[in-house]
Amino acid sequence: MKICNTIEEMRAACRAVRRAGKRLGFVPTMGALHEGHLSLVRAAKAGCDVVAASIFVNPTQFGAGEDLAKYPRRFDRDRELLEREGVELVFAPSAEEMYPAGAVTWVTVEGLSDKLDGRSRPGHFRGVATVVAKLFHVVEPDAAFFGQKDAAQVAVIRRMVRDLNFAVEIVACPIVREADGLAMSSRNAYLDGQQRNQALVLHRSLMRVRKLWESGECAAEKLVAAGLKEIAEEESVRLDYFEIVEADSLEPVERAKSGMVVAVAAFVGTTRLIDNILL
Ligand code: AMP
Repeated sequence: MKICNTIEEMRAACRAVRRAGKRLGFVPTMGALHEGHLSLVRAAKAGCDVVAASIFVNPTQFGAGEDLAKYPRRFDRDRELLEREGVELVFAPSAEEMYPAGAVTWVTVEGLSDKLDGRSRPGHFRGVATVVAKLFHVVEPDAAFFGQKDAAQVAVIRRMVRDLNFAVEIVACPIVREADGLAMSSRNAYLDGQQRNQALVLHRSLMRVRKLWESGECAAEKLVAAGLKEIAEEESVRLDYFEIVEADSLEPVERAKSGMVVAVAAFVGTTRLIDNILL
């Protein structure tokens, strides 16, 4: 497994793969890897000849007062995990390498960037779209793999790829959960034992909505009310949003239909967690 710290090295390594006529899959991450990330690597391995992953805690997608400084960084462990999965190329640049001094150019997916997480985290999706566009330019993958866990991110990236004519196939992979239902997240490491237990309410609220939906209820208002009721039962958990939205536009709907996203975000202590299900 080759580790590249500079854009030049990574670009050359990826070019060599494509010149050899091989299909290149790409898995962008912020590291502190868990089974969710590894599921993306496995999907990439299954559909591509060579897999590249990136580990970069992207400063521009964190707001002031968010957890950029304390975000878990476990490069040695991550490297071992990626090597074991058969990843051939790892891109691990510094912030200075990714953002030259005086960089003033941004990618903004208008409208979509203000929905769901973008509403509570202004500037977040501008940072995400910009760094993913930059990574796509460096790697030029045939396919890139993202987790459905970040449903709004998937919508933002798909739209960016369409609008800016990136020649990359975007593959969204299912959410990987702990045995008790908690969606895996690098941020779960922030939770103490009690909070870990309280965090289960996110998944429970989604399951409650799914059950009501499966019983025939389609009114989004009623479905959301059921989810909110479940969240309210865990008093220490502070809701950010609970919405049923159309998967591509992220627009809230009145009638829930198959393929729509039920999405929740909430604070457990100071940790902000997100989860969702596809109806
Ligand atoms: P991150 O390191 O948090 O930026 O995540 C990197 C990629 O892994 C993103 O595409 C995430 O959506 C995906 N991911 C994170 N957690 C999970 C999970 N539990 N299941 C599936 N994919 C995930």
